[in-house]
Amino acid sequence: MNGNEIWDEALQLLSKKLTRVIYDSVISPLQVYSFDNSTLILLTKNPFYKDTINSKYISVLDEALWEVSRKKIKAIIYNESDLEKKEQIKKDEIINNSPYSQYNFDNYIAGSNNKLAYSAALSVAKNPGTAHNPLFLYGGVGLGKTHLMYAILNYIKETNPSKKILYCTSEDFTNELIKAIRESKNEEFREKYRQIDVLLIDDIQFLINKESTQEEFFHTFNALYQTKRQIVISSDQPPNKLNGLQERLTSRFAQGLPADISKPNFETRAAILEKKIQNYGLRTPSEVVSYIAENIDSNIRELEGALNRVISYCELSNNPINLENTIIALNEIIYKAKKQDITAPYIIEVVAQNFNITKEDISGKKRTANIALARQISMYLITKYTDLTLVTIGKAHFGGKDHTTISHGCKKIAQLLENPNENELQATVSAIEETLHSK
Ligand code: ADP
Ligand code: MG
Repeated sequence: MNGNEIWDEALQLLSKKLTRVIYDSVISPLQVYSFDNSTLILLTKNPFYKDTINSKYISVLDEALWEVSRKKIKAIIYNESDLEKKEQIKKDEIINNSPYSQYNFDNYIAGSNNKLAYSAALSVAKNPGTAHNPLFLYGGVGLGKTHLMYAILNYIKETNPSKKILYCTSEDFTNELIKAIRESKNEEFREKYRQIDVLLIDDIQFLINKESTQEEFFHTFNALYQTKRQIVISSDQPPNKLNGLQERLTSRFAQGLPADISKPNFETRAAILEKKIQNYGLRTPSEVVSYIAENIDSNIRELEGALNRVISYCELSNNPINLENTIIALNEIIYKAKKQDITAPYIIEVVAQNFNITKEDISGKKRTANIALARQISMYLITKYTDLTLVTIGKAHFGGKDHTTISHGCKKIAQLLENPNENELQATVSAIEETLHSK
């Protein structure tokens, strides 16, 4: 039996030995990385799980491996940063090992942030080569580009199994090209790529400044395009912002359908969480979903990471998934994010913008009601989001004001925020906080 076969059988045993949540969220997503008859290296995408597995489940894994193979096989857990250390490991091997079958359209939540990308991807999957060519998906990290590409791949594999379809990152493409050149197999390389019906190239920005790879890709692109084969490309930038990529490439990208994926809003974030929770077969109070969706707005990968963290925390500590435990489980990451990004000068800047006054107005001595209020809101938010002492805040950010003045300002705003008649102030402060978090 090879590593994958052993692991598949071990998984069946593990699904009975472990609770559903642990099995679904921690164990079944593990990917076989390598196997040499005595050690099975498994890969987790979630760094938090590496420790969890090592401390709680490694003996169950070893036991299951013994039961299916009757050999002493040691399971070793790697996360992606372990892999990065091991240079000889090729990313495409990992990708080929894993079906990524959960990256499908059913699990993809369509929201206002990805509407066009989603519907275009679906029509490409239904009618490859005829709908939008190339489909060019672009957006920041962790927002769902790779997921959509795999959704296209999985959909076509299922509905159109005779189609030759290839997913690779532009790094894979580059490495393969370099290898082909080294081994004088340029023709085989070309042949391979030109037979493909659907080519999905992820993260095209890695071709920036790689002139000869761009040259080769340009010819591949044209060969496929002219014979109406489907090309799907993803990038972290729109075509016209890909500086360092040849103009003849970017102009071809722009001729198809560029579709952007932006950050999801609160409702979409909540819907994504609901979907994941449902897939795990769990139920959680809606306030748990709201809390996570409100606090984690950087990207969807982090949103998922936060949810997994909450689930494992509750599972491992034998606690119910409720708001209280969610706050504890996420305390560290939310607190860290706040500390890193939100500094006193930045708060002052955002408050000033919101009140349409200058930063100097806030830190200075003017006493008009509007400026005084903006100043006190700044004091309040600085104590809320930073670790600075009242003394430092007064000295460094408000022209040498005494700490009692800072303390008074903070208390006053805190009181107003509790007051049901102060809707307008509450809305102002929430709008400012929203801006602070969207940095
Ligand atoms: P990117 O390639 O843009 O960096 P990914 O496609 O890897 O991002 O997405 C990161 C994670 O977020 C994946 O686990 C993916 O399944 C999930 N995800 C992204 N967008 C959505 C969505 N709209 N609905 C559900 N899950 C999503
Ligand atoms: Mg990606």
